[in-house]
Amino acid sequence: MNKISKRIIKYMVLINLVVILVGFILTSSILPKIYINNEYSDLEIASEYVLEAAKNNTVIDLTDIYAVLVNDGSVKNMCRTISRGQGSSGNNSGSGMGHMGQMGMMNHSKNIDFTSVKNKDIFKDDDGNTYIGIKKSSDYGDIVVYKDYEEIRSLIKSVNLIIVAIFIFSLVLSIIIAFYLGEKFTKPIIALQKRADNISKGIYENTLEVTTNDEIEELNNSINKMSEELKIKDTMQREFISNVSHDLKTPLSVIRANSEVIKDGLVEGEEVVDYATNIIEEVDILSSLVGEILVLSKLRENKSTINLADTNLVDFINESYYKLKNIVSINNNLVIKNELDDRNYYVKIDNNYLYRVLTNFITNAIKHSKSTRDEITFGIKSIENGVEIYVRDYGIGIDEESLKNIWDRYYKGDKSGGMGLGLAISKEIIMSHGFLYGVRSKLGEGSEFYFIVPNKLIKKI
Ligand code: ADP
Repeated sequence: MNKISKRIIKYMVLINLVVILVGFILTSSILPKIYINNEYSDLEIASEYVLEAAKNNTVIDLTDIYAVLVNDGSVKNMCRTISRGQGSSGNNSGSGMGHMGQMGMMNHSKNIDFTSVKNKDIFKDDDGNTYIGIKKSSDYGDIVVYKDYEEIRSLIKSVNLIIVAIFIFSLVLSIIIAFYLGEKFTKPIIALQKRADNISKGIYENTLEVTTNDEIEELNNSINKMSEELKIKDTMQREFISNVSHDLKTPLSVIRANSEVIKDGLVEGEEVVDYATNIIEEVDILSSLVGEILVLSKLRENKSTINLADTNLVDFINESYYKLKNIVSINNNLVIKNELDDRNYYVKIDNNYLYRVLTNFITNAIKHSKSTRDEITFGIKSIENGVEIYVRDYGIGIDEESLKNIWDRYYKGDKSGGMGLGLAISKEIIMSHGFLYGVRSKLGEGSEFYFIVPNKLIKKI
């Protein structure tokens, strides 16, 4: 049996116990009171008839009820008691009369001290039998009407027995139900656990079909979604390793070939310089590649120190614009748009890192611009929750599926030409400043990459 089933059974048994205990206490305390009050009412009615009989100096017939008239120490039987059955006869051993369907004057009045009976009372005869009775004063003496009390006792006993039987039955039933429920609920959970184990081993297939229409189905959907995303990330990582190997291999081969040519003395004079320059260029490519990977891993592990300094935002944007203009190719137009009227926005930023973000946005915009409209807008504007800095191009745009992944490491589209690290690095830099980031894009119409400096990080001096 699994743990959940065991737990359900435990709680079911506990609930049952509490319910039965409460039921037991209530029935054993309330039931006798109700019954005794009923008996007093019955005796009260019977006493009216007995009084009538006393008046007429006769005796009456009463079922299971005895009545006596006590006057100056003498006790006179006032009724012929008809017994309903065996149940009520057991206590009349002292009477000398059995009353299985019999009828007769009762004698056990001899064994009872009627003078000490109270108006409403439960009392005993000399043989220890218990009775319930009422006493009423009349012109003819005290009338005592009473009956066996044992009946009530045996009734309560039966009720308690029934409760115990119900308890045992419901306990067994609840254990069976709990077992069934436990198995029913844990089956999909165990299947999900196996699926999660498989995912951790890199097995993303074998999706489960769960149609329980509850949280378990939602959990299954989340696991399926997680599995899909992990699969994409896994593929990206594999592609990255093969890309890195390829990207490292190409410059390394060039470096090796050029070095061999120089070493073997196959080139002389100016040509040696050309070959050496070529080697230096390839080394630069290699070192920037390794540098990017290092920066990203440091940023992700929070090991890279970001040097924040109070900076005038508009000045930073203007300076960046002039530097960026140099990297924009002759074909592209870089337009600056400053919609921020107030120049006194000061923000704590790391100039170098944030400039790196802008460079990445701009180089991507250039890469993905269309020859028909190669304009790029670089702007700053005030929005409701802060100040937004954006780079807008009118290029190929990004489809919805890719939009989910572009900020991930190693993700790159067809026109990339890079390592797929630029936006991942930008994202880390933006987040480490406490800024927000995003992209608005429409396929075929262009993209707008932006980051937002929230109001709480802006000091207006
Ligand atoms: P890389 O430029 O090395 O490919 P990035 O992380 O900078 O890596 O960009 C990831 C991908 O996002 C790009 O390969 C490209 O598919 C997409 N992308 C980024 N900027 C733009 C843009 N302005 N227009 C269209 N696609 C873009």
